[in-house]
Amino acid sequence: MITKLLDAQDVAEAAAWIQRGEPVGMPTETVYGLACDALNPDAVRRVFAAKGRPADNPLIVHIADFADWAPLVKEIPPLAQKLAEQFWPGPLTIILPRTEQIPAVTAGGLDTVGVRFPAHPVAQALIQASGVPLAAPSGNRSGSPSPTTSAHMMQDMDGRIPAVLEGGSCLCGVESTVVALDDAQTIRVLRPGFVTPEQLGRIAENVIVDDAVLTKLSTNAIVRSPGMKYKHYAPNAQVTLVQGDQDAFLQYMQPRLAAGVCALVFDADAAACKARGIPYHTYGDTDEARAAAFFAALREADAAHITHLYVRAPRTDGVGLAVYNRLIRAAGYDVVQV
Ligand code: AMP
Ligand code: MG
Repeated sequence: MITKLLDAQDVAEAAAWIQRGEPVGMPTETVYGLACDALNPDAVRRVFAAKGRPADNPLIVHIADFADWAPLVKEIPPLAQKLAEQFWPGPLTIILPRTEQIPAVTAGGLDTVGVRFPAHPVAQALIQASGVPLAAPSGNRSGSPSPTTSAHMMQDMDGRIPAVLEGGSCLCGVESTVVALDDAQTIRVLRPGFVTPEQLGRIAENVIVDDAVLTKLSTNAIVRSPGMKYKHYAPNAQVTLVQGDQDAFLQYMQPRLAAGVCALVFDADAAACKARGIPYHTYGDTDEARAAAFFAALREADAAHITHLYVRAPRTDGVGLAVYNRLIRAAGYDVVQV
């Protein structure tokens, strides 16, 4: 049975599991992670096994002190330093060439490592108490929606890991923005997240959103961010992403209303939608807040045994880009224009 740990003494207990090489659930501001000692190859292998994660999909390494970054990477260029100063602690992962400190298994065999300094106080407390950087991929079984509550994590990991630390619902609700540096002035977004390309544009002259973010790559294309090549974030239901305005979306849904069908809609569509609807996303003041509801909505569809989920596509600016990126993968690139 998985144990739910709650208070300061529990952080010490979770850290003790980590020091023994056992992975534990860790809340962060993005999603819940499955954390282990990033420098212990056996512990890292346990994380891959518990998730059923392909071995070439690298783990992000989490620190809780700026000083713990330098030993993990060959060099911190000025642009990386600027990014860290601006966005850490927070939902940004910075990829740089790794030192020998990082085991190859943690890096998925790559010669680089992605490092992040999370903002969540429980994550920071666990990293500090463990005394080592923590490798922590999202705490779901590989391929399924990321967990944004401890209950989601327990659904996926009960019986596979000893404990998950409680940290409430995740504020961001989408995984971190992953960036690499092409040159001294150029940031490449490998995975969009809560830190948007618009925000990154205030730091660097050039921000490139990698092709893999919005398009399906040909099978022989070189993928800079290995996670991007897998079908991902998918609920059990078949997912179709529908791009169009409210009227067109509702009209498209009309002949498709049937048992087992559900629409994932913007809050403003919910009243007008005749299908069973789960609101997940809207724009305006609450854009950020609504990204937090997205993965929970996919899990809600699973709990309701939905077989076909039609999703009204979000815009691709701001945090919407991160949600859209997850959705096209959940949909296996089944996108219709209405
Ligand atoms: P997750 O930990 O489940 O949020 O997945 C982390 C994702 O970050 C991976 O699937 C990769 O796509 C990306 N990533 C992590 N480390 C690297 C790296 N060294 N180079 C490129 N992408 C990385
Ligand atoms: Mg993941």
